[in-house]
Amino acid sequence: MNVPLLDLRAQYQSIRAEVMAALEAVCDEQAFILGARVADLEKDIQKYVGVGQAVGVASGTDAILLSLMACGVGPGDEVVTVPYTFFATAGSISRLGAKPVFVDIKPDTYNMDPAQLDGAVSSRTKAIMPVHLYGQCAEMEPILQIAARKRIPVIEDAAQAIGATWRSRKAGSLGQAGCFSFFPSKNLGGFGDGGMVTTNDQALADRVRILRVHGSRVKYVHEVIGLNSRLDALQAAVLRVKLKYLEEWTKGRQRNASRYEALFKQANLLGRVTLPTVTAENRHVYNQYVIRALQRDQLRAFLHEQGVGTEIYYPSPLHLQGCYKDLGHGPGSFPYAESAAQETLALPIYAELTEDQQTYVVETIKRFFARTRA
Ligand SMILES: *Cc1c(COP(=O)(O)O)cnc(C)c1O
Repeated sequence: MNVPLLDLRAQYQSIRAEVMAALEAVCDEQAFILGARVADLEKDIQKYVGVGQAVGVASGTDAILLSLMACGVGPGDEVVTVPYTFFATAGSISRLGAKPVFVDIKPDTYNMDPAQLDGAVSSRTKAIMPVHLYGQCAEMEPILQIAARKRIPVIEDAAQAIGATWRSRKAGSLGQAGCFSFFPSKNLGGFGDGGMVTTNDQALADRVRILRVHGSRVKYVHEVIGLNSRLDALQAAVLRVKLKYLEEWTKGRQRNASRYEALFKQANLLGRVTLPTVTAENRHVYNQYVIRALQRDQLRAFLHEQGVGTEIYYPSPLHLQGCYKDLGHGPGSFPYAESAAQETLALPIYAELTEDQQTYVVETIKRFFARTRA
């Protein structure tokens, strides 16, 4: 049997006619940059996330970059975040000449450990950026409390967490700004790159709106130095169609997660692999279903041989990356991020995955451990 990590073709087939009609409408109009289609998607996302403002940008990375710029982050500033995330989280901070200050993750949820946040905040801290990793929100209450006490904005890296909630409030509506990605493999994926900034802060939204078009409100009049980071109308058209089905697809992912849990229990594998931990405050949307095992690399190789696609998110924590040598960290600096990087493995979880495929994945894992025990 073949079980790819992600197969977007079935999803596409189910909405093909609708998507093609939306794309054709944009082609007929020949209006490709921002415009009414993007404004419509912004309104839809605003409503879905439950915020007052949403601004479409060129990617999730730019959503982070522009949010940081709108919060005034620049050279000499610090932004507190985690070392166990996609590179864009910290890379965007560095791009602005600011310094990413890392705090370790919690070993069960892989999200920022709020207990270490206080010690990482300094007089130079301009923002705190928790990441809602794999589709589950970070522990926001203590993070928001510390941020409020120190009067520092919280920017959520919600790239993997559209539709996730923390105490019934949606990811992207919890901090000053939320950053979303429409990269094809995210839960709401476009046909290319795209991103969105969400906020309840009208002034912040206004700054992002100007920054995404070279700092200009009136054509050829530049108030600030921005960049070109606009969302394409073609992407917006696709995303508007897909957004209608997002809840259904999210429920499919959640059903598959429960199915995995039952299958792993039945197979008596809970001593061998650790399943995702979902805390009571959270609605997990499973952009990734990540298990943990001591013999991760051997397990991954075996699954690959047997036709099961997996991925490692992420094989090296950011504080150990060559480009961050100058930060002065080393092995042992953030032990939970480092052990997660060595032990985590993402399994196929997309909504169209069948029960047979999931059974095959778990049976294959069982065979691996039976083999290594012998
Ligand atoms: C995908 C992702 C990003 C970047 O989004 P792009 O659209 O690829 O630029 C940022 N942070 C996290 C945690 C992500 O998963």
